[in-house]
Amino acid sequence: MKKLFLAMFAVTALTAGSAVSFSALAAEVNVYSAREENLIKPVLDQFSAQTGIKVNLITAGADELTTRMELEGINSPADLLLTVDVGRLLRAQEMGLLQPVQSDVLESQIPAQYRDSEGHWFGVSLRARVVVYDRARVNPAQLSTYEDLADPKWKGKICVRSSSNIYNQSLSSAMVSHHGVAATEQWARGLVANFARQPQGGDRDQIAAVAIGQCELAIVNTYYLAGMINATSADQRAQAAAVAVFWPNQQGEGLEGRGAHINISGAALSRNAPNKAEAVQLMEFLVSNEAQTWYAEANNEYPVRPGVPVSKTLQSWGEFKADSLALEQLGIHNAEAVRLMDRAGWR
Ligand code: FE
Repeated sequence: MKKLFLAMFAVTALTAGSAVSFSALAAEVNVYSAREENLIKPVLDQFSAQTGIKVNLITAGADELTTRMELEGINSPADLLLTVDVGRLLRAQEMGLLQPVQSDVLESQIPAQYRDSEGHWFGVSLRARVVVYDRARVNPAQLSTYEDLADPKWKGKICVRSSSNIYNQSLSSAMVSHHGVAATEQWARGLVANFARQPQGGDRDQIAAVAIGQCELAIVNTYYLAGMINATSADQRAQAAAVAVFWPNQQGEGLEGRGAHINISGAALSRNAPNKAEAVQLMEFLVSNEAQTWYAEANNEYPVRPGVPVSKTLQSWGEFKADSLALEQLGIHNAEAVRLMDRAGWR
């Protein structure tokens, strides 16, 4: 009887034809995502299947999405912004595009360092930026810390992408947070002096350059290597096999043993979100066991929630200590980091 009543109500609402009644019936959430579509769509489909909430996905570059949100202003249909680095979340926050979320689920599942203290953004997966080295030519006993990459013993041996890349900006921001601007500039100068070539290409290109002998070390995010290890291309698999992962800053006291640099992919609620409740529900779903396990497996990233199993490839690299730095620090120091990298000649 109750079902019949609901069905009749639905028909009446639909024939009435008002947009308000329609949206009240068809729950939906609008996602602006900087994540490659095939790396997020399956988990959004899962969310829709479980909740009946339709997800409208728009995929574009993070800067394009935030510009669009800014132009759309209070009429923006965006509910959630998904990015693949914390730097872009912090920029969106600075642009005034976000609103804070208070959620016991998010606060209890996501360690404090991986979310904004005021709830403006939340990490969904972890991305470690590490050193990979040529198995044939580098003795890993010579490797130790990010700081050590500026030592003249690596002259002409290091490959890394451009300083315009947000992952490098975040790594340098972390260094500023730990050491201050002057010491980090000194470090960047030493690192630049050790470059094997002018920065070019993405992280996969740095791994390939190590594999073909252009450099002995590269600074990269681990999921790129995981992607190459599991690539359909035999060339990429061979290149991946030529290198190994070194986890920096694992040994020693204080800053020396602070742990590897971590970035996040994350989610934030748009300031003008028209479907706020659904958006928060989706954020909470993204940190569910199920979504976290899928993420870790499909994207070869690390789950943001402790205790969720990682992919086989990630297991093969062993456990590591992560830097405990609160990631909001990366935003605070981004501008200084960009300027000092420029002064140091990191192009
Ligand atoms: Fe990436």
